[in-house]
Amino acid sequence: MNNKTILMSLAVGCMAVSSMSFAQQVSGPIVVQGAMPVEAERFAQRLDNPQEIEIGGWRFWRGTVEGYPVVVSETLKGMSNASAATAIAATQFHPVAIINQGTAGGHDPALKVYDIVLGKYSVNLGAFKSPHKQPGEGSDSLQWKPMDLLASKGSAGEDKKPHTIRKFPADAQLLSVAESVKASYSKGNVVEGVIGSADMWNSELDRIQSFHRQYQTSVEEMETASASQIAAAFDIPFIGIRVLSNNITNQGAYDPQTGLACQDYVYQVVKAYIAKAKTR
Ligand code: SAH
Repeated sequence: MNNKTILMSLAVGCMAVSSMSFAQQVSGPIVVQGAMPVEAERFAQRLDNPQEIEIGGWRFWRGTVEGYPVVVSETLKGMSNASAATAIAATQFHPVAIINQGTAGGHDPALKVYDIVLGKYSVNLGAFKSPHKQPGEGSDSLQWKPMDLLASKGSAGEDKKPHTIRKFPADAQLLSVAESVKASYSKGNVVEGVIGSADMWNSELDRIQSFHRQYQTSVEEMETASASQIAAAFDIPFIGIRVLSNNITNQGAYDPQTGLACQDYVYQVVKAYIAKAKTR
């Protein structure tokens, strides 16, 4: 290649970049996850040029928000569904960020239905080892010790070390973007807190109080910790954002409409993330 050809190809290269839309220049979409239709469909309806895609048993809607690619994912309920949907999103869409959002039950009596918890980290409330008990000695979940399934390659049950609870942290930048739109929310307070996840709906107040005291859980639900674990395995920035739809620690009755409010909040988070990305 002579100098003239190099200059020409450089010029062509620059033209190509400037004629690309913003959406084409960014490296991947933001994925917004919701377990139930009431937690995902409202966001999907807000996408521009949405395209529905079905992969296995999961629905995804691919579109844009202000020209930036966004994929809404209906993960379905529970830890297995959430982890599988996250792995599919990671390999199919190569997202720059994953936001898991939806409803949750309060563990903190200071939080009311419609308050929103920005998960600074999440924990798995379904991974425990019970003490040994003889037949007839019964079962007491308050005695169970956490079991960190990622702590060692050996037996998680026999190791001493894994009996501290694993924390799945939020990405710092996503957390600060989520914080930055707090003032837009008028239906309740927005606080940073801890999200506990398991395939379990806890209604025993002693157990809820013990989770809150031992692991500082603000809320419980059934997806965030598993989605967070899988996002980390793919090195994808992640945050869980949950609205209280119920709180039996302070007689907060279940209200599924809260799922819509959470999507509205997350829409503001996504717009703020995009605004920040555009200035980069
Ligand atoms: N009332 C609904 C409950 C759905 S199951 C129904 O009958 O269909 C629970 C779903 O809501 C999960 O996706 C979970 O993430 C969330 N959730 C809300 N409050 C919860 C709570 N107190 N405990 C566990 N999951 C909760």
